Amino acid sequence: MPHFCDAIIVCCIDFRFQNYIRNWTDENLKNKTFDSVGLAGSTKDLETVMKQVDVSVKLHHIKEVYLIHHEECGAYGKESTPIKHSKDLKRAKETINSKYPDLSVYLFYLYLDGKFEKVG
Ligand SMILES: [Zn+2]
Repeated sequence: MPHFCDAIIVCCIDFRFQNYIRNWTDENLKNKTFDSVGLAGSTKDLETVMKQVDVSVKLHHIKEVYLIHHEECGAYGKESTPIKHSKDLKRAKETINSKYPDLSVYLFYLYLDGKFEKVG
């Protein structure tokens, strides 16, 4: 039986941010269903992210993608700067949209205090 959902969310595995992300999705994706991907560094390993997006598109016919990076990301180490995160988020969006032009991709940077900032 086919089953569809609205979106996919990609975020880092870091436990410090999971409550923030859960509260954010409760508020902002209240009436939506979504697949959930947790990878160290979020979109840092873009090839792996693309495989998950492929599955989501194929099986669940998603329409939206939410990519969340965060402050002080261990997977980035010293490279974890707002500029680097914003660059990698934009690169991920471009890669996803070049394969799936109809997908709406939303980018966010999450601060240690739980504040979400829209990127791009
Ligand atoms: Zn992280």
